[in-house]
Amino acid sequence: METLQEVKTRVYKFGNKTADGNSTMKNLLGGKGANLAEMGLIGIPVPPGFTITTEVCTEYNKFGQDAVVKMITREVEDAIENIENIMGSKFGDKEDPLLVSVRSGARVSMPGMMDTVLNLGLNDEVVVGLAEKSGNERFAWDSYRRFIQMYGDVVLGMKPESKEDIDPFEEIMEALKHKRNIELDTDFTVQDLKDLCYDFKDAVKKRTGHDFPTNPWDQLWGAVVAVFNSWNGDRAVYYRNMNGYPSEWGTAVNVQAMVYGNMGDNSGTGVCFTRDAGTGENLFNGEYLINAQGEDVVAGTRTPQQITKIGSLRWAELAKVEEAERAELYPSLEELMPEIYNELNEYQQKLELHYKDMQDMEFTMQDGKLWILQTRNGKRTGAAMVKIAMDSLKEGLITEEQAILQIEPNKLDELLHPVFDPKALKSANVIAQGLPASPGAATGQIVFFADEADKFKKSILVRIETSPEDLEGMNIATGILTARGGMTSHAAVVARGMGKCCVSGAGALKINYKNRTLIVDGHEYHEGDWISLNGSTGNIIEGKVATIEPELSGEFAEIMELSDKFATMKVRTNADSPKDAKVAVKFGAQGIGLTRTEHMFFEVDRIKAMREMILSDTVKGRKEALDQLLPMQREDFEGIFEAMAGLPVTVRLLDPPLHEFVPHALAQQKELAEEMHISLEAVKNKIAELEEFNPMLGHRGCRLGITYPEITEMQARAIIEAALNLKERGIEAKPEIMIPLIGTIAEFENQEAVIRATANKVFEERNDTIEYLVGTMIEIPRAALTADLIAKKAEFFSFGTNDLTQMAFGYSRDDAGKFLPIYIEHGILKVDPFEVLDQEGVGQLVKMGTEKGRSTKPNLKVGICGEHGGEPSSVEFCFNTGMNYVSCSPYRVPIARIASAQAAIKKQA
Ligand code: PEP
Ligand code: MG
Repeated sequence: METLQEVKTRVYKFGNKTADGNSTMKNLLGGKGANLAEMGLIGIPVPPGFTITTEVCTEYNKFGQDAVVKMITREVEDAIENIENIMGSKFGDKEDPLLVSVRSGARVSMPGMMDTVLNLGLNDEVVVGLAEKSGNERFAWDSYRRFIQMYGDVVLGMKPESKEDIDPFEEIMEALKHKRNIELDTDFTVQDLKDLCYDFKDAVKKRTGHDFPTNPWDQLWGAVVAVFNSWNGDRAVYYRNMNGYPSEWGTAVNVQAMVYGNMGDNSGTGVCFTRDAGTGENLFNGEYLINAQGEDVVAGTRTPQQITKIGSLRWAELAKVEEAERAELYPSLEELMPEIYNELNEYQQKLELHYKDMQDMEFTMQDGKLWILQTRNGKRTGAAMVKIAMDSLKEGLITEEQAILQIEPNKLDELLHPVFDPKALKSANVIAQGLPASPGAATGQIVFFADEADKFKKSILVRIETSPEDLEGMNIATGILTARGGMTSHAAVVARGMGKCCVSGAGALKINYKNRTLIVDGHEYHEGDWISLNGSTGNIIEGKVATIEPELSGEFAEIMELSDKFATMKVRTNADSPKDAKVAVKFGAQGIGLTRTEHMFFEVDRIKAMREMILSDTVKGRKEALDQLLPMQREDFEGIFEAMAGLPVTVRLLDPPLHEFVPHALAQQKELAEEMHISLEAVKNKIAELEEFNPMLGHRGCRLGITYPEITEMQARAIIEAALNLKERGIEAKPEIMIPLIGTIAEFENQEAVIRATANKVFEERNDTIEYLVGTMIEIPRAALTADLIAKKAEFFSFGTNDLTQMAFGYSRDDAGKFLPIYIEHGILKVDPFEVLDQEGVGQLVKMGTEKGRSTKPNLKVGICGEHGGEPSSVEFCFNTGMNYVSCSPYRVPIARIASAQAAIKKQA
């Protein structure tokens, strides 16, 4: 049986310019813990504290609370003593109390995984000591009331589970405000705050059946355990699954001395970014509040002020605030506290230079002293990601390789979505203005609750403010609009991380959840009404706005070009039409890796001929129908070859089961019977004959061409004739004819013979030739196992990892949706293997197929054309397997190009 290992460091201390850990230890200390240690090491003033490692979280999940607490008690006591020595105060002391904060911190930032517990260590006696020590009774009791509320919500499970329930603490506060006829928390008297503390504790006793813990050590262990538990909470599990993070990572726990932003008008707290997280502009920016604690800024309940003067002026312009009012009520930190601002400015520069990336920092000013609470690489939109990488390169902050590695390939997707048509924007009806919290163009129907975001195909989630519970709905919604909260509010930060369009802090919106209405300027909007958001300007627009296709330009084009310098593995595209091919070329595709010819048969005028071909009982009948299809296919191929002008184009012969083409509606069956001059009965019988138990394993792929060679003949002819036609027009075409779904070399030989005979016939007829290749898909496990034999004949391989995954796992591609989500939820699979290549299993077949193929033909051209060809981790695997190219849908081409360059850079390193 596995047991807890005795000798190991489980608690890492930091503070006073020393630290046990450093920033390279993110896996062990979590991102936050590693960065706190690093900041300590480089002389940034962080409140002292310690980090309990992520390994302890994993041990906790394995061995349980008692064993783990026992194991780390001595180390934690020692670490608390270290904080006490640095701060000169004592944990639990009635006269000079040390209070701490407790926060989660996984190796990657997970917004809203666990809310922080602040002011831990307070009780009825300590609060009196704190009041005396600070000389500020109001501050002490306000801290205590916040602590009971946070601890109650986060640790003792007082937070309401559904949106219908009311937070018991909020309810008590509202009742008191009503009784005292006041509006704001800041209007409470000291006596009010005392009353609240007692009422809060009563509420805890009533709900949980236990007294609120008074012993600071009990409080501390309760919070530590709550952090560990939060790793397996619904929100964290959802976020992990969404991002493919494994549950074994665990979270660290950070315990730190409290510093106070709510000690009066010489104190405050804020969040800042070294560059603009929305646009990438190199502009220090952020928000702060005087006399407040951290969550006040993020929660958006008070209007935060801008840190820099230029930010404040921009904000005032958007919020339509006059200069006199701005300067008086909303001054920037730069204007209000220039010394603190200068110090903060110095640290932000130092931190960005140190981490060589845009930083997202939290700070607190306690009675005029600045503390940095946290720094991390800031979340940013796709556009900002690209601009920051290119700017940092031009500024000499990072190397070319680092610039490319800074790109998160999947985030480029955001830059490939449609944007508002500037012409349509001119006539748009702008109903209100908010802050441009996360750029993008979103049009959708209004919903007011996150768990209803899937009510419409495209929804705009309209909230007064968002909270971590809304994460799932925010992910589903097309855009997010909030009435409250600034550029660093929860909605804004999360939306930017998701690359989702968001307009925040639109104060003119009156939202009524109960009636499900949004009132702007006297006009009422309801759930289901269409609105549009311009996340780049903050404009809220009535109705729909037309969009246009994005361009690969500016810094985006520059980084793509740069990536080509490093990428050795090429990126092709899967394209079935000249239009798709043109889009892909615009995005830098270096050829076509898969043209699914069947897609050309679904158009109205073609499907009839196709159906006649399928339903015909004789070779003659089939040939007649194929003769009708030939010119259409040839024309398509000409269009595609022309779009690709000289780049290789892999054309796959007909692949899907034939029944996919037959009509299932009676009216269409009748129409077909008339056209073919046969009875309805005969049509029905033939359709019944084509029914299969397992179509995916049935009469499809090369089995079609082998049973009906005339299909292969027609397709081979169309390809070769198209290439010759282009040659006559002076355009080079490089067809690569691909045979699908072979499992034996004999199947390949059969079809190759038909193709070559047809090609030779066309060459003779035209008295001209072109070069072409004949290769195969490797998508049946037997093909991978016998790849050495197949490579004797095949001139190239293309791994069809969709079918290969289906057959290696034995999961039907068409039916996996019924069980895969449950497999992922239960951790049986970490990710969907149809999206992310299963390197452990299917990957072995890919590797073996490539190696065996090249053992016969060393220069064998190998590529991949399954969906995985555009998925970054799979692209890296393909590179390491030695593939010549990956092929993916046109809109994923830039993603695959960056992933290919990154794979090459990582291998060099
Ligand atoms: C594959 O199987 O991976 C493939 C590309 O072919 P299709 O998806 O058309 O079966
Ligand atoms: Mg396939």
